Amino acid sequence: MSIKAVIFDLDGTLLDTLGDLTSAVNTALRHHGFPLLTEEDVCSRVGNGVRKLIERSLPGNAGKAMVDACLAEFQSAYDEHLVERTHPYQGMPVVIEAFRRRGVRMAVLSNKYHAAACRLVNHYFPGDMALTFGERPGVPRKPDPTSTQEVMSVLGVQPDEILYIGDSDVDMQTAKKAGVTAIGALWGFRDRASLLEAGADHIVERPEDLIQLLDRLQLDAAMHAFERNGFTWTFCATAAQAADYIVSQCKGKKIGFGGSMTLDGLGVYEQLKDQADVHWHWKGGDQLPKGDVFLTSANALSATGETVNIDGACNRIAASVHGFDACYVVCGINKLAPDLTSAMRRAREIAAPLNAKRLNKRTPCAVDGKCHDCRSPERICRAMTVVMAPPTGMSHYEIVVVGEELGY
Ligand code: SF4
Repeated sequence: MSIKAVIFDLDGTLLDTLGDLTSAVNTALRHHGFPLLTEEDVCSRVGNGVRKLIERSLPGNAGKAMVDACLAEFQSAYDEHLVERTHPYQGMPVVIEAFRRRGVRMAVLSNKYHAAACRLVNHYFPGDMALTFGERPGVPRKPDPTSTQEVMSVLGVQPDEILYIGDSDVDMQTAKKAGVTAIGALWGFRDRASLLEAGADHIVERPEDLIQLLDRLQLDAAMHAFERNGFTWTFCATAAQAADYIVSQCKGKKIGFGGSMTLDGLGVYEQLKDQADVHWHWKGGDQLPKGDVFLTSANALSATGETVNIDGACNRIAASVHGFDACYVVCGINKLAPDLTSAMRRAREIAAPLNAKRLNKRTPCAVDGKCHDCRSPERICRAMTVVMAPPTGMSHYEIVVVGEELGY
C-alpha cells in the first residue's frame, strides 16, 4: 500500500521543547522551595502528559493538592513562555516541506494539553498539519490508540496507509496498538534500545532520513502498481545513471522530446544528438508527430500506478499517448504522490505554478505560487492526462524513476 499520511509526535519529535518545559517546571518547583531540575532530568520525565511530568518532578511524598498547585503554576508559566527556547529540530522544516510536496498529509498527536499543542503547531508549522490533537478531556492519552484511530478516520486512511513517527516508547506502543507502522526517532528523548523494545518497525537517526524512508516505501508500492497496470518500471539511483540508461535505449532511433526540465537537466538531448535522430522544439528542432521513441517527464506519478500531466499547447501530452512506438517517462523521486487524487493535486498546485513562473506567464500562480483556477489568456492548464495503462498502438511504455529530486 502507498503511504498517504503521517502522524508526528510533538515534543522530542518535531520540536525540541525541553528548554521551555524545564523553565516552567522550575517556576512551579521554585515557588514551593523544591529542588530545581536540569533539562536532562525533565527529559527523563516527559512523555505521559503534563500531570505525570509534575508528579515525577515532585518529591515522592507530594500529595494530590501539591500536584494540583504545581500543575496550575506550571501551566500558567508554560502558557506565557511557550515559544521562547523551543525550536524545530534541525532538518525538520525540510522534512515537512518534502512531505507536503509529495502530497502526504500530516497530523500531530501529543500528550501535551491540547491548547498548548495547537499553539505550538500553529506557531512553528502554520498550515502544514491537517489536524492536531493534544490531550483532550474524556479522550484517553497515548499509548491508547483512540486518538490515532480518530486521526485515521478524519484523514480517511487505513492503518497500512499511515506512518507514526515518534521519539518515545509511548509513541511506539501507540502505533502498534493502532496497527500502524511505528518509526522511532533517535534525535528526541529516548534511545534506540527502548524504541526497539517498544515495537519500532524502523529507526531513523536524523529527520532527513524520514524522507528517504518514505520514498523507499512509496517506491515499492509504486513499482508494484505500475507493473500491475502493464507499464515497465526502472529505477535509477542517480541522474547520471538515468541519463546513461535512456541514451542506451535510444541510440540509432528517431526520438521526439516533450518539454521537460527533468530531461533538460539530464542532458540526454546533448548526449543523443550524434547517436540518434533527435527532434526537440526546445532546442530549435521541429515537433515530431510520430517516431520510434517519445521522451518525456510527468508532473506527477501516483503510487497507485498512473502518470499525470498538465499541458498548455498539449503537444507533449498528445505525443505521450499517440504516434510513437514507445514512450519513456522520466521522473525524479519528488514527483511520486500517494494516489491519483494527490498526483492530480500535485500537477495543478505545485508543478503548474512553478512552470508558469519559469515561463514568465501572466497568471496569478506565477506571482504567488498558488493555483487560482484562472481564466488568463496565458493559462498553462489546458488539458490534463492520466495515463492508466500503456495505450494500444504503443509497444512499450516505461516509467523511469530517479532517486533524486528533479524538475518540478
Ligand atoms: S489554472 Fe491558472 S492559476 Fe491555476 S495553475 Fe493553471 S495557470 Fe496557474
